[in-house]
Amino acid sequence: MATPITATAFVQALKKEGVQVEEVRDWRNHNRNQQGPWGPVHGIMIHHTVTSGSAETVDLIYDGRPELPGPLSHGCITKDGTVHLTGHGRANHAGSGDDDVLRAVIAERALPEPNQQNTDGNRYFYGFECENLGDGKDPWPGEQLDAIERAAAALCRHHGWGARSVIGHLEWTDQKSDPRGFTMDAMRERIAERLK
Ligand SMILES: [Zn+2]
Repeated sequence: MATPITATAFVQALKKEGVQVEEVRDWRNHNRNQQGPWGPVHGIMIHHTVTSGSAETVDLIYDGRPELPGPLSHGCITKDGTVHLTGHGRANHAGSGDDDVLRAVIAERALPEPNQQNTDGNRYFYGFECENLGDGKDPWPGEQLDAIERAAAALCRHHGWGARSVIGHLEWTDQKSDPRGFTMDAMRERIAERLK
């Protein structure tokens, strides 16, 4: 259980971890806090966007869509490895997922297979949307994977969490397949190594 990081501390933590940061428009005050609770935070969720084109992708994650208003995550990680900050507070990224998974994340133990949609993930998870078509063919550049590793590690370090606090959307709910193109186990290994 943890209180969400402040916007200023988030920027500092990312830069200290060696992340290239871009602050998008009014991201510090951009959230969905009127629609539901934000926090306590328990973990970090990684997504792919199913888009191409970095500028369009960042705008989409900030603005959202008519049926799903933005922000669609806290950070948007483009192919060049830049973390664009798109929201601070509750964001529309995680949707509903499995309370058994949430308990495993809190305890930092191995994840069960998700099979329920009974828990509001937007309350409990930071989200990073990563620019990728999600078709299994679109490559994940080294710079982008490095940024995912560093951004997640920055929040883990701030909260005193281990790599098991970082999950993929596909591990939260069986209704989603993201991220596709690398495994979350491999990403967690990288994060754990960085946190040593
Ligand atoms: Zn997702």
